[in-house]
Amino acid sequence: MERTLSIIKPDAVQKSVIGKIVDRFESNGLRIAAMKKVKLSAEDAANFYAVHKERPFFKDLVEYMTSGPVVVMVLEGENAVAKNRELMGATDPKEAEPGTIRADFAESIEANAVHGSDSLENAEKEIRFFFAEREIL
Ligand code: GDP
Repeated sequence: MERTLSIIKPDAVQKSVIGKIVDRFESNGLRIAAMKKVKLSAEDAANFYAVHKERPFFKDLVEYMTSGPVVVMVLEGENAVAKNRELMGATDPKEAEPGTIRADFAESIEANAVHGSDSLENAEKEIRFFFAEREIL
């Protein structure tokens, strides 16, 4: 059993596809162990994406992630980290496999509908960034 962090990003929240995205997880064996809607501050977004701070798109990424509310979730299930990444599809929706969340709902390489932790180690850090243990059920 693993836990991973998922974020429904501002473009997908704005398009009212929260329910459709959550259904992809629940229909594929990932349980919603925690969930909340939040508006990130610039400081939140910069801290969350600190690994990307030297990348040319960092400023745009922070602006985009603070452009509207996001929905943050802890997903739980067997191989949750890899399964979530598989359901999400490639970072660039043009390269995402048909039927993946990004192929179906993303706008662009930046506004790409969802975030998912890329390793078990990062999942633990990212979950702790957003949730207290008592909020994960
Ligand atoms: P992920 O793990 O698939 O989300 O991809 P990365 O960790 O490489 O990038 C983090 C996020 O930064 C992506 O999900 C995009 O929102 C954004 N991003 C990645 N590459 C680019 C890029 O080349 N240009 C822009 N504008 N944003 C990008």
